[in-house]
Parts: sequence; structure tokens; C-alpha cells
Amino acid sequence: MSALDDLYREIILDHYRNPRNRGELPAPPAVRVEGFNPLCGDEIVLFLEVRDGQVVDLKMTGQGCSIFQASASLMGVAVKGHSVEEARDRLGDFKRLMTLHEAALEGGVAEEPHNLRRLGELAALQGVVKFPVRIKCATLAWNTLAQALEEASPA
Ligand code: ZN
Repeated sequence: MSALDDLYREIILDHYRNPRNRGELPAPPAVRVEGFNPLCGDEIVLFLEVRDGQVVDLKMTGQGCSIFQASASLMGVAVKGHSVEEARDRLGDFKRLMTLHEAALEGGVAEEPHNLRRLGELAALQGVVKFPVRIKCATLAWNTLAQALEEASPA
């Protein structure tokens, strides 16, 4: 077990035990979007308030496994207070991380660490791809974010 693995596990456990941005927002002005992962039973209700192209507030309720909870908490921290454009960038980075590693597992495609620095703490979730059944747990909050961004700020 490398020091990096230890760090990643610490980040995931921290966000699982102390989830950020829990709660609800009045909708409107926030948009309210529900997400569900039937494979695991993870569920989320995401509240997202966008004003002048900025994600000014974000809260969530829901329940599920530790990977889902950690990923949802990390997602909220990654996008709250940032622009919609930045939120969409992080969303793309994260989805690419999941896909790249999937591809690497299947076909020996070289891993591309290009976006790991930008991902910051989100990189802690890269180990999830070793367990393909858990990828849907890790991406649920992000897919819900994509829908909320679309409703709050149509591209
Ligand atoms: Zn799950």
C-alpha cells in the first residue's frame, strides 16, 4: 500500500464521515434534481442555485454506499462557488478519469494523468475503476449534477 493510496483512502473516509453541503435549498430559485443508482440503491436529491453563470449554492440529501457518499461530497466541494463553465470542466475531467481507467483495464490503453492535478482531491476516486460495478456509485452525483446544470443554465 503506497503513501498515495493511504492519502486517497483518507480523503474518501473523511468525506464519507463528514459529508459536505448536506441539506436542502428552496427551489426555486435552486433547481432540484433526483438521481438513483438501482444497482446499489444509492439515491441523491441535489439542489443547485446558479446566478450570473456561477454556482452560488449547492446542497444535497440522500443515502447510499461509502463510495457514493464520498464522491457526492467531493463533487459539491469541487463545483460550489465556481462558474458553471468550471463545473462542466470538472464534470468532464471526472467522467474522463472513470472512462480512461475503464479503457486502460480493458485494452491496456496508457493511463493519462494529465488531468489528475486539476482534479485535486477528486483523484482519490480513481481507485474505484478497479471495481467496475462501483463506477455507477461514483458517477451518480456527477450525472445528477449534469442534469441540474442543464436545467439551471442550458448550454
Ligand atoms: Zn453505491
